[in-house]
Amino acid sequence: MILYRYQYSDEPVLDAIKRQEYLQPPGDRVSYVLTCPNCGPREVTDFSFGGEVNPRPHETPSPRELGAYNYFRDNVAGVQREWWFHRSGCGEWFLAERDTRTNEVLLTELPS
Ligand SMILES: [Zn+2]
Repeated sequence: MILYRYQYSDEPVLDAIKRQEYLQPPGDRVSYVLTCPNCGPREVTDFSFGGEVNPRPHETPSPRELGAYNYFRDNVAGVQREWWFHRSGCGEWFLAERDTRTNEVLLTELPS
């Protein structure tokens, strides 16, 4: 059994949600918890996925560079940096680092 870092929280309701999610084997999970930098831990269903972080091309990109920026993604099997929007909460966009294989969220932060 894998014990996750959220198991011993001071918030009983959120702790129960997290224990239910995080004690299941990764393949059986249908949901997980994301921590909004403003609101704290919430079910992932409170958020909208904004895609992986994709650096903008320089000021005058070639058509090939612009096409790559608009249409191609790395789609890594591992940790990737992503945009998330808290649509059922504060309405803020933030960044997260998530392992795409396990849905483990390693960090969340507001963009600088
Ligand atoms: Zn929020």
